[in-house]
Amino acid sequence: MIAEMLRDPSLVKAAGFINGQWIDAEDMKTFEVENPSTTRLLARVADLGADETQRAIVAAHQAMERWQSVTAKEKSILLRRWFELVLEHKDDLATLMTAEQGKVISEAKGEVVYGASYIEWFAEETKRIYGDILPATTSDRRSLVIRQPVGVVGAITPWNFPIAMITRKVAPALAAGCAIVLKPAAETPLCALALAELAQRAGIPDGLFNVIPGTDAAAIGQVLTSHPLVKKVTFTGSTRVGKILMEQSARGVKRTSMELGGNAPVIVFEDADLEKAVSGVLAVKYRNSGQTCICANRILVQQSIYERFLELLTRKVAEFVTGDGFDVSVTSGPLITRQAVNNVDALVKDAVSKGAGVCIGGKPASGTGHCYEPTVLRDLTADMRLAKEEVFGPVAPVFPFEDEAAAVAMANDTEFGLAAYVFTKDSSRVWRVSERLEYGMVGVNETAISSEMIPFGGVKESGQGREGSKYGLEDYSELKYICMGDIEPGVI
Ligand code: NAP
Repeated sequence: MIAEMLRDPSLVKAAGFINGQWIDAEDMKTFEVENPSTTRLLARVADLGADETQRAIVAAHQAMERWQSVTAKEKSILLRRWFELVLEHKDDLATLMTAEQGKVISEAKGEVVYGASYIEWFAEETKRIYGDILPATTSDRRSLVIRQPVGVVGAITPWNFPIAMITRKVAPALAAGCAIVLKPAAETPLCALALAELAQRAGIPDGLFNVIPGTDAAAIGQVLTSHPLVKKVTFTGSTRVGKILMEQSARGVKRTSMELGGNAPVIVFEDADLEKAVSGVLAVKYRNSGQTCICANRILVQQSIYERFLELLTRKVAEFVTGDGFDVSVTSGPLITRQAVNNVDALVKDAVSKGAGVCIGGKPASGTGHCYEPTVLRDLTADMRLAKEEVFGPVAPVFPFEDEAAAVAMANDTEFGLAAYVFTKDSSRVWRVSERLEYGMVGVNETAISSEMIPFGGVKESGQGREGSKYGLEDYSELKYICMGDIEPGVI
């Protein structure tokens, strides 16, 4: 079992975490977590539901009241300790991640460091939650604005970044003075539970960070979006589920932050540095086997360099090795489930049936895991499903375009608006195109755009709100205006 692979086996938890206690499901139900590389059983985890979620919310509410009397400096020290413990256990956390999510071990280690960076950042930012004093409306008044925690937060996260998508929510929530109840993805509960164990070891008070592993996502989500003590719902996942949660949250007028699906274009103009553009596409397309929300989903290449680009990209993709993420020679791990492989294959088959060419790959990989061959497709057109839908797999659909206006129109022809990328050496074009792209984030001659210091988030149906950076705290606090009257304006 998985515990034998860790230096610190006590990081493997198979229970829910409520008010600082490890608890089984009330009906003792469990669910299985499998390794997507081997399809072997990793652990049986407590299958919690609506009742336990309600208990966690009440505990969070009580813990939050106590958290208010903890100074910003003390909060900062606790969060910093948690950050240090996450880094100390980097190798074990990465092992858990590769085992339950499948990404190659070097990427898993990178995600632990990336995820930890949000805890470090918000440990620092908690000391910078400032208020304001506004010009008085009359001479006997003073107008103040203070920032207060929004309240208990309900959080739901996906499986593709089993640590970073959690720390991006939990760290700012705690830093802002909130408590949080988290439902991690059913495919990847082990990383979430290990994070809770480390938070407890760091001294984060009981009840502030609760984890509800479970398979009845709809029931848990229903409680998180309807319980009167929950004041904010934060979600990362598909646009389909995000819309359900927004509708449910609207009934109680709860604040929401939504990090939803993407359909990222990479526009490569004929004046771009071709080698750099190909490297950028390789990095942003095939990382995590194509299962990231800011993955290149449509690669738009100017007609005059189309053949050269395809040749270079295909040559590089031919060097990829698929397989078990623990094997250091492997560059592309499995997809999360067999269903995911089938979904990717259906999109590829749709494109091929409508005239796309396969430069390399184009089918599920042989072997036991849920692997798909790293793929490059050419001659894509707007009527293919790949033009509209998130592929979430290692498939690079390369579309030709004629000129700048056509490229921008194609890039914006989607209901999504998370990340977009542009490769060009023309500085005027950089501004023209960046300003016209309807996206929350634009990478210019760069595809590694994410960090704890930038506001991550999308527009249109990719969501609302930002995670990370100084703006990331705002989503977890409310402004309160205080009017102080009856001040005698005497002369001194
Ligand atoms: P998903 O199906 O929406 O699932 C995400 C989470 O929602 C999981 O914890 C899931 O639980 C839960 N869930 C499912 N149905 C629910 C319901 N009716 N009520 C409440 N919760 C529910 O998404 P996914 O396939 O795991 O993740 C991939 C998607 O996430 C992609 O679209 C990707 O672009 C997006 N994403 C966005 C960002 C961003 O920052 N914008 C980052 C990463 C991923 P179960 O696991 O138990 O089903």
